[in-house]
Amino acid sequence: MTTKVDLKDQHSEREMDNDLLADALVRLSTIAKHLNISSHTLQALSQPLCTLTSYISIRKDNGESAYFKAYRCRYNSLLGPTKGGIRFHPSVDQSEVEALALWMTLKCAAVNVPFGGAKGGISVNAKSLSALELERLSRSYVRAMADFIGPQTDIPAPDMYTNERVMGWMMDEYETIKRVKAPDVITGKPLVFGGSVGRTGATGTGAFLCIEALAKKRNWQKHKQTVAVQGFGNGGAQCALLLQKAGYKVVAVSDSKGAIYSPEGLDILSILYEKQKSRQLKAVYCENSVCELVSHKVLTNEELLALDVDILIPAAVAGVITEANAGLVKAGTIVEIANGPVSAAADSILHEKGVFVIPDILANAGGVIVSYFEWCQNRQGELWSEEQVTTKLSDYIHKAFEQGWQRHVSTNIDMRDAIYAQALERLTLAIEAHGTHDYFNAN
Ligand code: NAD
Repeated sequence: MTTKVDLKDQHSEREMDNDLLADALVRLSTIAKHLNISSHTLQALSQPLCTLTSYISIRKDNGESAYFKAYRCRYNSLLGPTKGGIRFHPSVDQSEVEALALWMTLKCAAVNVPFGGAKGGISVNAKSLSALELERLSRSYVRAMADFIGPQTDIPAPDMYTNERVMGWMMDEYETIKRVKAPDVITGKPLVFGGSVGRTGATGTGAFLCIEALAKKRNWQKHKQTVAVQGFGNGGAQCALLLQKAGYKVVAVSDSKGAIYSPEGLDILSILYEKQKSRQLKAVYCENSVCELVSHKVLTNEELLALDVDILIPAAVAGVITEANAGLVKAGTIVEIANGPVSAAADSILHEKGVFVIPDILANAGGVIVSYFEWCQNRQGELWSEEQVTTKLSDYIHKAFEQGWQRHVSTNIDMRDAIYAQALERLTLAIEAHGTHDYFNAN
């Protein structure tokens, strides 16, 4: 059945420029038009199932109260309990959370993980809070959301500016409220609370595995491939580290303050060390605990995106490559570790330029895949070895990449469209398994 539902029209009243959900729906609608996607599927994805918003408060260290807007969206549960991270960032709003939850729905479907999609967040500058205030905020979030999340309904995880410690506080608060042990309510938690080995590095590792899969297809000589990474956080730093170890030349990395660039290649392990020690990005070379500054240029994040490199990895925030700057991109390959770093309007510009994009719903899926493994271990009372986790992660990523690649090659569509098709087909199967209008009419 061909598409009759126009998601663009349904959301035409939205302000497109800063509305991430509207942008996500435009892309979905555009891709669905190229593919033969059932109108039932598009209808099911046109709105979130439900979004809970709350105005939560904490007592600050100085005794004053502080208030924050908090969100949790369960976008779609066709394939299983909903799953998605919680982010602490000033840009968090309902539209961003809902777009991220839609992408989680597509991501789980694309890589064949039996979860629906969700996302949560608090509009806050986490860097402005003390550790104790951060703990109070994390617990306050769970008090607001405790009846909305749950091991068989909706399972949170970390995202930007949240980490395993935050997940540990959240799990503890949930267990206190519910008076049960429930490690399976949250993933990405500390190992000692039932976290999985390999979860912290899973997102960067998944992206690295995608690049390696592409390298094989293209017969790349790795030492000739230059890489720039925007966002030296959990996902970006791990991927940069693995790429350098595998022989690629990582020439630029950045954080929210700016980028560093050295055409000779950067030493990622030393930069990680320096970042942890001084909270700054500097091109250094360290031996034991002695570090030496090496020659490098300081760039802006915008300049990093326009560098003449082979592989560009946006691993920070959404919407950094838009209609306005897509023409400046010189990289031949973009690997989206961030969610939604390329706007829908930029897709066609990159296509025209022949840029190959490994889309976010595949490139950053390592995190949710290992989160799924963590949830399985918690529910079975098992602890898997690092080897088990790594082998299984690699299987999931390779299978999803290969299916997408075969479709990309055989039908001559972009890799993003191919991966979306994979996800939408799986969601369509779930809808059909429930029985469609046509099925009931035939009876
Ligand atoms: P993180 O908080 O560990 O790191 C984010 C990094 O981006 C930091 O280095 C920060 O300084 C930098 N940054 C922030 N704003 C920036 C800006 N405007 N320009 C350049 N750099 C900026 O976050 P993370 O967990 O690595 O997540 C990064 C991205 O990857 C997000 O879009 C997130 O949704 C996505 N992602 C993460 C996971 C995961 O498991 N961590 C999974 C899937 C997707």
